[in-house]
Amino acid sequence: MDFVYKNPNEPIEARVRDLLSCMTLKEKIGQMTQIERTVATPSSLIDLSIGSILSGGGSAPFENAMSSDWADMVDGFQKSALESRLGIPLIYGIDAVHGNNNVYGATIFPHNIGLGATRDADLARRIGAATALEVKASGVHYTFAPCVAVSKDPRWGRCFESYSEDTEIVRKMTSFVSGLQGHPPEGHKHGYPFVAGRENVVACAKHFVGDGGTYKGVNEGDTVLSYEELEKIHMTPYLDCISQGVSTIMASYSSWNGHKLHGDHFLLTEILKEKLGFKGFVISDYEGIDQLCDPHGSDYRHCVSSAINAGIDMVMVGVRFEQFIEDLTSLVESGEVPISRIDDAVERILRVKFVAGLFEFPLSDSSLLDIVGCELHRDLAREAVRKSLVLLKNGKDCSKPFLPLDMNAKRILVTGTHVDNLGYQCGGWTKTGRGGSGRITIGTTILDAIKATVGVETEVVYKPYPSKDTIENNRISFAIVAVGEVPYSETSGDNSVLRIPVDGAEIISSVADKIPTLVILISGRPLVLEPWLLEKTEAVVAAWLPGTEGQGITDVIYGSHNFKGQLPRTWFRGVEHLDHQPNDGVSSSEPLFPLGFGLRYN
Ligand code: BGC
Repeated sequence: MDFVYKNPNEPIEARVRDLLSCMTLKEKIGQMTQIERTVATPSSLIDLSIGSILSGGGSAPFENAMSSDWADMVDGFQKSALESRLGIPLIYGIDAVHGNNNVYGATIFPHNIGLGATRDADLARRIGAATALEVKASGVHYTFAPCVAVSKDPRWGRCFESYSEDTEIVRKMTSFVSGLQGHPPEGHKHGYPFVAGRENVVACAKHFVGDGGTYKGVNEGDTVLSYEELEKIHMTPYLDCISQGVSTIMASYSSWNGHKLHGDHFLLTEILKEKLGFKGFVISDYEGIDQLCDPHGSDYRHCVSSAINAGIDMVMVGVRFEQFIEDLTSLVESGEVPISRIDDAVERILRVKFVAGLFEFPLSDSSLLDIVGCELHRDLAREAVRKSLVLLKNGKDCSKPFLPLDMNAKRILVTGTHVDNLGYQCGGWTKTGRGGSGRITIGTTILDAIKATVGVETEVVYKPYPSKDTIENNRISFAIVAVGEVPYSETSGDNSVLRIPVDGAEIISSVADKIPTLVILISGRPLVLEPWLLEKTEAVVAAWLPGTEGQGITDVIYGSHNFKGQLPRTWFRGVEHLDHQPNDGVSSSEPLFPLGFGLRYN
């Protein structure tokens, strides 16, 4: 072997140093650049030595692309990267945030809020491991997960990406990192990135830090806290991720006391890298550095110098990569960004690439393809759905519970906007950033699951919007109504009223007036449950955003499993009760149901 860096038997740090010493400034800056798939070309990869590509918001090569299509696409890019002068492999990143959610046919697990309701760290780890396999099968090396935000305010559009409003619950669920990357052995060097093998992927804890603490839950807003409170509430989950060897951490779009995180040298360098000892790389959020000048991106050169000098190592540039490269090059040449900062960033990026085995195994492993959406993974997702359900009410009269339902009821009405909609069941970040509607992938809706569960004698009357006649003329014994939120992501999900959408509320009201009714709420957060709803209905279940395995719901409402879920966040009575506390974000006075609430079958 001519080069130390090419020799897998050499220590990683020696390989990093050797490779770095061979690189030109152009190659170093190329490695710091992550570009959008849509602008990646063989020449950009070969000539500019681009370090990473992403499919922002899950952008697939084409509608309904399956794992093998993804693998072919990623391998194609990788082959170009390997043709570059030094043959440095690229690292391909996606948002696989609840399973490999961009791929048709993948297993989609409950979103984080549902996992928070399980309080089950081992389950989170197993889901991480299954997700890693499905991601790896599609040739992808890197996922921007987990989101370890401590979401204080349900009005935040990313509330569902957070495990809980409670720091300790979020800390517990960071075991997801060990699922994705594998668990580092005893004695592993603190802060050093760790990826166990070919079945693992590079994880990214995000969004550092305080993303869930912004005033009134405004996405990308300002978190106003003392350093001590910021550390205690929002930073501790990162310590858990770092001690598990998390390889990358993403900066938050939000601000801390008026300063954008992307330009915060104190938090990114002095705290995260120096005090907490993080040795992986810090990645910006998508075009996040553009926010460092006002109006966004107007003085891009300034944005670039502020972000890199603050401690961002890889920039998720999106499409503006030529400008980024030009500006960073001139900043280094003029001394405004020291070369030592560039070397530090590149060392971190190369370290992760070596740790992840990309130099030895740059291409996809087709033997993994069969694992995508396999029965084992669907069973795991079904288990997660079961454990995530929170029973809020059971029976008008406490001595007469309504659930479990009777599998042999003569005739049941199954209705509601969310009862037969896989896209709605999966929520945001599924197939596209904002999520979708209808049969967007393979899976089981609540309606499918009910049909598969009830006895042969039971007639299932399915009407998404039931008329008065349906209810009156069908001699129906009870109704199952599933309603909730329509998928959203990021700012599009910010919501200051948090009501059940009107069509859903109308269905509940018309049905519950006539027949005993179970309401299944599909939502990324608690929604206002008005007194009439709680009075009229027999039972209410919070099912969060359960993903593709609707049978997890029927397993529990029909009684083959008990309810286990506990509220991962306070169920507020009305938005007027969401008080902003100066040192803690939001606390809900007079909650309808407290954090941890959840009924069981006796
Ligand atoms: C989000 C990140 C995400 C990135 C890439 C951003 O808009 O804030 O969470 O990882 O896009 O899709």
